[in-house]
Amino acid sequence: MAEWDYEIFWKETMTQIQTELGEQEFSIWFINLEYIKAAEKSITAAVPSSFYRDQIKSRYQNLIENKLKELTGKELTIEFEVVPRDKAADGQKSPEALPNNSEKNPVSGKNTPPAAGTAAAGSAPAGAARKKDRHPQLREDYTFDKYVIGENNNFAANAALAVAKNPGVTYNPVLIYGGVGLGKTHLMQAIGNYIHTNSESKIIYISAETFTNEFIQSTQENKMTAFKNKYRYVDALLIDDIHFLQKKIGTQEELFYTFDALYNAKKQIVFTCDRPVSELKDITERLRSRFERGLNVDLQPPNYETRCAILKNKIEALNANVPDEVIELIGKNVSTNIRDLESALTKLNAYAKLMGRPMTIEIAQQQLKDVFASPRQTNMSIETIQRVIAEEKDLTINDLKGPKRTAKIVLARQLAMYIAREITEYSTTELGQAFGGRDHTTVMHSCQKIEESIRADPTMDSTIESLKRMIKEYNAKS
Ligand code: ADP
Ligand code: MG
Repeated sequence: MAEWDYEIFWKETMTQIQTELGEQEFSIWFINLEYIKAAEKSITAAVPSSFYRDQIKSRYQNLIENKLKELTGKELTIEFEVVPRDKAADGQKSPEALPNNSEKNPVSGKNTPPAAGTAAAGSAPAGAARKKDRHPQLREDYTFDKYVIGENNNFAANAALAVAKNPGVTYNPVLIYGGVGLGKTHLMQAIGNYIHTNSESKIIYISAETFTNEFIQSTQENKMTAFKNKYRYVDALLIDDIHFLQKKIGTQEELFYTFDALYNAKKQIVFTCDRPVSELKDITERLRSRFERGLNVDLQPPNYETRCAILKNKIEALNANVPDEVIELIGKNVSTNIRDLESALTKLNAYAKLMGRPMTIEIAQQQLKDVFASPRQTNMSIETIQRVIAEEKDLTINDLKGPKRTAKIVLARQLAMYIAREITEYSTTELGQAFGGRDHTTVMHSCQKIEESIRADPTMDSTIESLKRMIKEYNAKS
């Protein structure tokens, strides 16, 4: 068989893609892609896991093939072969083949559990060859390479990676906001893990709640100096869930000074919050302005495709055997957030293990019946409600989510919120989030408005009832 060598074209393709996509995106997906061999009409490249392969295929296969065609003038297809890095490196068996086992991947760094230990001296980036203890406050599995990127979190993830690579320089501070279970803590800790792995920086990760408690305790025990020293002399300060600071004026003051000390010293600060800063209540204006400085990025709920990709990733990490149709079933039925996706999978996996049975679609349906039936899930999504009401009122879903305040839109929006409150179990915070990131008090206010009009206008009740009927019909069909 003739040997075909397209490696030079491959290299040029990679160089061009790197320029086009930029360093961050490229380093997430392409660093782990390696040319192996070629035939007349195809090139085979190594990927470190099937998860990577699927992601690369869906995102970049066309791009790569088009570039190759431009360069070679031939229609070359690209094939991917899963070559777990561990095996390639030292022949050891790895329990999983996730890309974090690669010593070349700057995204994953050296956050692998010690057991995997593959980093061959010499091939690792300078200064990172030795193994490093994990950071005491950070979960070792909250790394970039375990963070699946979809359109819902693309921007946030890239920003986080940029920050991790150049702490204190690129964006400062960074605030990541979004609803519960959407990956804020994971992303924040990925920044911490990355910096920890690649430098000697001093990093503190702390929840706003613990920060508050420590602050109160240190004032009571006259240990303010120690407290100040602890937080004002770090290289990166990661504070999770700052919405907790609402009304905590004393802690806010302290954080304000901590912020300025770190900011002026060009130290990295990262915050997370469950809502946009503009919707925080009882926060001093000067602290709010600090939160808003730098970059604010949001995380949205993942779409179906990303949900399936996340499930596949988790399954690989669990080393479980789950048929595609089961993945699709969960992906379709669990649409709220990633935490819910994980718990559905964990439940199913535990059952299958316990019973010593392979996971089938029947078992999944049976075991996850309650999860799927929960009104939080697609059974009745907020989007269905928005869709039906928008259609009925001759508006678009974006009208309902957006900022416009014409009487017609305001009424439709209030109706949608009121009905969602009645027929789903979403909290007002979640509903606010689904209506363009509004505050939960806006949702409460809308519900009150509708209740008032029901009292004032006897026809209102039947309007609402018929809308509810239409929504339920639509939902049953879809
Ligand atoms: P939040 O802090 O926003 O409530 P977390 O960061 O705790 O959410 O995420 C909830 C769970 O979902 C965690 O186990 C996390 O690892 C996982 N997760 C979130 N986003 C992703 C993602 N994009 N890819 C893989 N796992 C994710
Ligand atoms: Mg969190």
